[in-house]
Amino acid sequence: MKREYETVIGLEVHVELATKTKIFCGCTTAFGGAPNTHTCPVCTGMPGALPVLNKKVLEYAIAVGLATNCEITRDCKFDRKNYFYPDNPQNYQISQLYLPICRNGHVTIQIGDQTKDIGIHEIHMEEDAGKLVHDDWEDCSLVDYNRSGVPLIEIVSEPDMRSAEEVIAYLEKLRMTIQYLGASDCKLNEGSMRADVNLSVREVGTDRMGTRTEMKNLNSFKAISRAIAAERERQIELLEEGKPVIQETRRWDDNKEYSYAMRSKEDAKDYRYFPDPDLVPIHVSEEWIAKIRKEQPELQEEKILRYQTEYDIPDYDIQILTSNRHLADLFEKASALCGSPKKVSNWLMGETMRLLKEKNMDPEDLTLTPENLSDLVTLTDENAINSSVAKDVFAVMFDTPIDVMKYVEEKGLKNVNDSSALEETIVKVLEENPKSVADYKAGKTKAMGFLVGQSMKATEGKANPQMIRTLLEEKLNS
Ligand code: ADP
Ligand code: MG
Ligand code: ZN
Repeated sequence: MKREYETVIGLEVHVELATKTKIFCGCTTAFGGAPNTHTCPVCTGMPGALPVLNKKVLEYAIAVGLATNCEITRDCKFDRKNYFYPDNPQNYQISQLYLPICRNGHVTIQIGDQTKDIGIHEIHMEEDAGKLVHDDWEDCSLVDYNRSGVPLIEIVSEPDMRSAEEVIAYLEKLRMTIQYLGASDCKLNEGSMRADVNLSVREVGTDRMGTRTEMKNLNSFKAISRAIAAERERQIELLEEGKPVIQETRRWDDNKEYSYAMRSKEDAKDYRYFPDPDLVPIHVSEEWIAKIRKEQPELQEEKILRYQTEYDIPDYDIQILTSNRHLADLFEKASALCGSPKKVSNWLMGETMRLLKEKNMDPEDLTLTPENLSDLVTLTDENAINSSVAKDVFAVMFDTPIDVMKYVEEKGLKNVNDSSALEETIVKVLEENPKSVADYKAGKTKAMGFLVGQSMKATEGKANPQMIRTLLEEKLNS
């Protein structure tokens, strides 16, 4: 009988914090820029340069820790993690080993109607490394230190996940929470959120953990799912053949859908960690934690509860609208302006989502204003424009904010609701289509649809079809 295996997964997630300046110097954290222009003696590791901690980094780390139910370490410090690599100019990375800022937290994930807590072992602060640029043409590698010293937090989970689905749910929950806090934009594809997946397998029923591997270079949820499936199979195959799984770091190649060994796994002792003598220990006061807690924005769980009492919209809408702070803000502001929450929600859930997907944008990238959205809802509520015109106007304001009322007026997009003007059109349409008139009179009711269509066309789609139908019926039946 074939043995059954369970997958055990723990994640190490690096998140770039949204500070304006680096963790230990005043250089900008702006992405890009000509190589080595966002640098100074500190972040290029010049001898004698002294690091000074950016207070905002600590505040963001504490905010993320509070939002993930962690204990905050009152007295924490930084340690040196020693290793040589050209993107690491000091030959050590300033990180935290002994006293990380946050410990023993958890986040709750939901899959279907099941919830599960995923433990967070710790969150520590550290600096990012530079980037090597491989120049095949010149056959050399160059180094760009612009990213060196950009602040990171590393969120280390307990090995509590059992499937790719749980991993994705955990990452989505972390991303949403951190985005809500404004601590990072958490973009996997741009590297502001990076997940290393530690995976082992064990026979169902055993308590002992199997040997794990760590996979790097996973920059989309799809890549993560594929890598998990492939690594699980690879390890099971080894075990079935009676071979050991080797504890190592593997690099996932998403094009080949295959991972290969990068290096054998180092232990903490390989890095010869020791407390960084250049940085003073940090004391985090009760008052400071209380202040950060108080300034915490309303997170999704609380928002959901408030929406359920405040707005008459379905739970499904509430889930989606609150999944992103920017979307939720837009919804709340536009609803307050026009007083029709369900209609605002329809625009956000329908056209907005469709266009975001089509243009490959995130909700953060939305430039749509609550005023524009509210004006559009008002115009359709008053029946001043019909739904197809509204969609066109929406597509315009989705790209750039406009003066909706003026735009509709100037482009002549308002409904023709004036029955005397419509009457002229209808008379003309009836004259031009004697066959349809005869058909209708002979009892072929289908002809009515055609006549309504022709009349709509004659008004360039600006009439109310129901009104046209009524007028046509009046004329034909008289
Ligand atoms: P290291 O210090 O060597 O990086 P840690 O104990 O800090 O190792 O664990 C790193 C990550 O690996 C954590 O997210 C943890 O949950 C996960 N992990 C540890 N052991 C296993 C295992 N046997 N299977 C899967 N994941 C594991
Ligand atoms: Mg580790
Ligand atoms: Zn610098």
